[in-house]
Amino acid sequence: MAKQIATNVTWHDGEITREDRFEILRQKGITIWFTGLSGSGKSTIAVALEKALFAMGKLSYRLDGDNVRLGINKNLGFSGEDRKENIRRIGEVAKLFGDAGTISLSSFISPYKADRDEVRALHEAANLQFVEVYVDCSLSVAEERDPKGLYKKARAGEIKNFTGIDDPYEAPENPEIHLNTDTMTVEEEVSIIIDFLSENEVIQSQYFTRASDVAEDSAAAL
Ligand code: ADP
Repeated sequence: MAKQIATNVTWHDGEITREDRFEILRQKGITIWFTGLSGSGKSTIAVALEKALFAMGKLSYRLDGDNVRLGINKNLGFSGEDRKENIRRIGEVAKLFGDAGTISLSSFISPYKADRDEVRALHEAANLQFVEVYVDCSLSVAEERDPKGLYKKARAGEIKNFTGIDDPYEAPENPEIHLNTDTMTVEEEVSIIIDFLSENEVIQSQYFTRASDVAEDSAAAL
């Protein structure tokens, strides 16, 4: 866990609770954390899932490796220490999104188990659900896809510390969802996640029945 440096700081609660926010959004805020090799399909699945959720009237927001490295984490590189800090900050951002009621879709290679476990622990401490999705794809298929040409550069020695080439990837041991993207279609992958969210009552609208809606429904039935 990162050390708390500032002292005399305490969390200030407002008068609107997390549950109030979840109720108006008719969903629970959670973090879906995609982890896997570069080119395994994390961003592709997140984009397709965001679209599917949007069509269902559900609010999600993608936190994506490169996008975040262009902004909040622009001062970080790819050393072990910087990768760790990269993931810690994203974990904190995802946690805030979850508290706000958003389904955050975090797509980061996040190669180290300890870093992912730290993000999981952050969520557990905040009583927010963390869903680890292992986007599993063999190195040979990921390298063949090479959507950004990065493997080619890493093999040529132009990129150092590249996961799968000269930096390790530690596969999740107990992910909530395990997708094999070298054999499944993107549609299958999205539907597995949607089913998981329904089963866990993250997106079932009947989970949040408000008195006013019950009244409206009854009026409509007349
Ligand atoms: P990552 O975000 O993990 O680095 P990307 O999503 O950017 O990976 O790239 C994955 C590439 O693999 C894309 O070009 C995508 O079209 C392709 N692809 C092929 N089959 C699948 C699949 N079943 N799931 C996800 N991506 C797939």
